[in-house]
Amino acid sequence: MALEDYRAMMERCSNCSGCKWIPFDKIKSQRFSENCPSISYYNFNTHSARGRFQLAQTLLDGDCEFSPDVVEAIHNCTACGSCDSTCKITRYNLEPLDHNLALKAKAVEEGYALPEQKPIMDSLQQEKTMLPGELRSNRLHWASGIDVKDLMKEKGEVAFYPGCKYSYNEKLKPVAANALKLLINAGADVGIFGSADMCCAGRALQMGFENDYEQQAKANMEVFTKSGVSVIVTPCSDCYHAFKRQYAKLGLDIKVMHLVEYLDELIQDEKLVMKNRVPMTVTYHDPCHLGRLGEAYVPWEGKEKKILNQVHTWEPRRPRYNGADGIYDAPRRILQSIPGVELVEMERIREYTWCCGAGGGCSQTNPEFASWTANERITEANATGAEAMVTACPWCEESFMNAKDEDGNTIQVVHLIDLVLQAI
Ligand code: SF4
Ligand code: SF4
Repeated sequence: MALEDYRAMMERCSNCSGCKWIPFDKIKSQRFSENCPSISYYNFNTHSARGRFQLAQTLLDGDCEFSPDVVEAIHNCTACGSCDSTCKITRYNLEPLDHNLALKAKAVEEGYALPEQKPIMDSLQQEKTMLPGELRSNRLHWASGIDVKDLMKEKGEVAFYPGCKYSYNEKLKPVAANALKLLINAGADVGIFGSADMCCAGRALQMGFENDYEQQAKANMEVFTKSGVSVIVTPCSDCYHAFKRQYAKLGLDIKVMHLVEYLDELIQDEKLVMKNRVPMTVTYHDPCHLGRLGEAYVPWEGKEKKILNQVHTWEPRRPRYNGADGIYDAPRRILQSIPGVELVEMERIREYTWCCGAGGGCSQTNPEFASWTANERITEANATGAEAMVTACPWCEESFMNAKDEDGNTIQVVHLIDLVLQAI
């Protein structure tokens, strides 16, 4: 939807500020009660979902313009969607996240992208990755030495899609390689897209580059369809969200699973048995794009109407993405199935998780803001007394590893698969 189409929502925002905190009945301490990294870091209303509705309205009405401060405020949103989940506690069906993205898209369309975004988008166009400096010719190095099907040349049921971070980041490449080997050893009919493997471009959408996103999404969908696979498995939560929620809007009709869902099924079916003890106290970080933004797309066609010329509603009832149906139980079940692992929870979990700071391209365009956001989460993880923070997303993992290094925190950051490998 274009920004103009959100007019009614801008007017319906009640200024309750519910988008700045987790719901009151979930708050355990004042220290970890906030939910929006942008308003918490900048401490200025324009940086909240509420402020963004007001900002958009004044821009559309011609009462303000794209000044440098306005452009910064628009783009320094991690697209974490926390405002979206908490707003739905107080309002029936406003869509603050989609609105934030439409506001970013409007800025980009009018020529107000951030200068830091240019190399990222150039890289997507030229090398099919949003990691500037990385070459397409090196994309498959992570899989070297693994005997796996190339799905562009032979048929397979499952496609393993690692995503850019796991394909290029030296510290993270082993996660992709180990996950793929684990799937092969468990008997999955799995392959990779070989030279046709490209970025999912979910970040382009998160940064407001709608046309680039759509072009790349359609190119990927062509690859997926041509391969004939029936399931795509990814260890990256960003790719998961892109395929499951966003590509589905464009017509993708292939089952999408995050690696944790696939592993959970293997464990339930006893194809993967956890036999070794891993004596460790851990806390689990819910990645935004796997958790509250991991809900499947529900097609809807209908229209808005007013009751008694006052109450806005939709006919038929619109799907309500409040984050409750995201992927939360599978990773926790896996952790609890590992002998010796004790899971202790942070205060903000499931749909009210705190963002790692990397979303919306912020780790690349505003590392200081991203790092502050990640450090907030590490402080929360440390408060549980856990020895390790476990996650299931390369962006989260990298954010926490970098932030950990900066502040000298002692908590380890590990991908769930690393613990599974120790246990089998
Ligand atoms: S998407 Fe996240 S960072 Fe952006 S306004 Fe909402 S809560 Fe804040
Ligand atoms: S919670 Fe929703 S209705 Fe309340 S101020 Fe935030 S965006 Fe507006």
